Amino acid sequence: MLQIQARSDIPTDYGVFTVYAFSDSEDDWNPHLVWVALGTDFAKPVNVRFHSECITGEVFHSKKCECGQQLSVAMEYVSKHGGIIIYLRQEGRNIGIINKLKAYALQEKGFDTVEANLMLGFPDDARTFDDAIEVLKVLDIKAINLITNNPDKINCLKNSGIQLNGRVPLEIKPNEVNKSYLDKKREYFGHLLKEF
Ligand SMILES: [Zn+2]
Repeated sequence: MLQIQARSDIPTDYGVFTVYAFSDSEDDWNPHLVWVALGTDFAKPVNVRFHSECITGEVFHSKKCECGQQLSVAMEYVSKHGGIIIYLRQEGRNIGIINKLKAYALQEKGFDTVEANLMLGFPDDARTFDDAIEVLKVLDIKAINLITNNPDKINCLKNSGIQLNGRVPLEIKPNEVNKSYLDKKREYFGHLLKEF
């Protein structure tokens, strides 16, 4: 059962957030981190981003994906309008950083993001958003506006007890490296993205 293990206020480039560490155990070194923008009212529909960890994109500014930019834009958005970022520790669509790098190595040989995962014996997307829903329940959030392009995240809310009030799109313009990755997101995973 996920519980709040610790909390603290952290000022960022986008404003002040209260950060909660959520995990089953106090000894968990990789708890989910929930960033609540200052002044967010949980009694109204809350702007929420479910964001899966991507160390290459967020910390090292990899151009292979748009995760770092999505995180920045989402933080800016919730800072301005109120809301929370639920930062989920499911690196590499939940196959971990070692397997993600193995998948990238296969991509260098010409396979796409889905083919590479399947060749390594993983599903195309191994993530679930059950923990994010559990976090919302612990925080007593009943209705949300989901900041996403991903239909899986929208579908996971069905029968969850959390009301989906609306969707906030989070589109990042592709660069020269990640255009085919974003095309795959749109065409294969059905992400609600414009064609650039
Ligand atoms: Zn990424």
